[in-house]
Amino acid sequence: MTAKLIDGKAIAAELKHKIKAATQMRLATGKRIPGLAVVLIGDNPASQVYVGSKRRSCEEVGFKSVSFDLPEDTTQQTLLSLIEGLNNDDEIDGILVQLPLPAHINADAVIEHIAPHKDVDGFHPYNIGRLAQRHPQLRPCTPKGVITMIKSTGIELKGKEAVVVGASNIVGRPMALELLLAGSTITVCHRMTQDLESHVRRAEVLVVAVGKPGFIPGEWIRDGAVVIDVGINRLADGKLTGDVEFAAASKKASWITPVPGGVGPMTVATLLENTLFAAEHLHI
Ligand code: NAP
Repeated sequence: MTAKLIDGKAIAAELKHKIKAATQMRLATGKRIPGLAVVLIGDNPASQVYVGSKRRSCEEVGFKSVSFDLPEDTTQQTLLSLIEGLNNDDEIDGILVQLPLPAHINADAVIEHIAPHKDVDGFHPYNIGRLAQRHPQLRPCTPKGVITMIKSTGIELKGKEAVVVGASNIVGRPMALELLLAGSTITVCHRMTQDLESHVRRAEVLVVAVGKPGFIPGEWIRDGAVVIDVGINRLADGKLTGDVEFAAASKKASWITPVPGGVGPMTVATLLENTLFAAEHLHI
């Protein structure tokens, strides 16, 4: 079998097109355009790339984009005060604080300070709790984007054997909750998992978010599986690669995401989708 490609770039472009049309419709009916505030602390090069792409995408769809670039030595109190101001700003629907934060800032305290109805990254315990209790509101962008990608294949998630490799708060765990909500039977693997191979071999839907190039051998993939590679790893030659051995996995999977051009663009498009949702339904 040769897998079909799930083209994240194309699906993200279509989603952004719809968001732009909805934004123009808001304007035409006298409503305010959605506003997103993106906060970056320090000069982590990867974070600068992600933030740049989020800000550009915001402008592409016609949102108001407000940028805050603060120095590495910004105090936690300064950041919390900035968030407080944005929580009370009527023109801002979404607040994104780019992670990771410098070591002297408590990321949990920062995330919990964002008003849940403006938490467009979906990381606030309120939003994670809503997802866990089957009443999602603002859903973490990467897992939600993955669900959009799987749905685009027409494959039914109900009753599927789904395996998530990686259990981080921002990808693996909420990914498992999304798949559970969609009706799959889920297994979540992490560093302490015994016999990872046997779990991966069972997966009809496999999502990998570990951050190690080629970590999952293509040979482990179940025939006909849907393979979603969330990993973004930069090799010594500067090229980006995923966590799954792409060429070998493509011979066994029915559908597979490329890296780059797979989950990455969907994460950004889903952030915009969340911001529009917050403007339409949650702004108070
Ligand atoms: P993370 O916080 O470092 O989490 C990595 C996860 O992998 C952890 O749960 C860890 O287990 C697990 N893991 C590590 N070694 C393992 C092993 N040998 N066996 C089984 N599990 C193992 O990373 P993350 O933030 O989730 O990101 C993962 C990858 O996705 C990175 O490459 C990142 O760049 C990428 N990413 C991409 C997007 C996108 O938009 N495409 C968005 C976010 C992240 P423990 O919990 O037991 O430590």
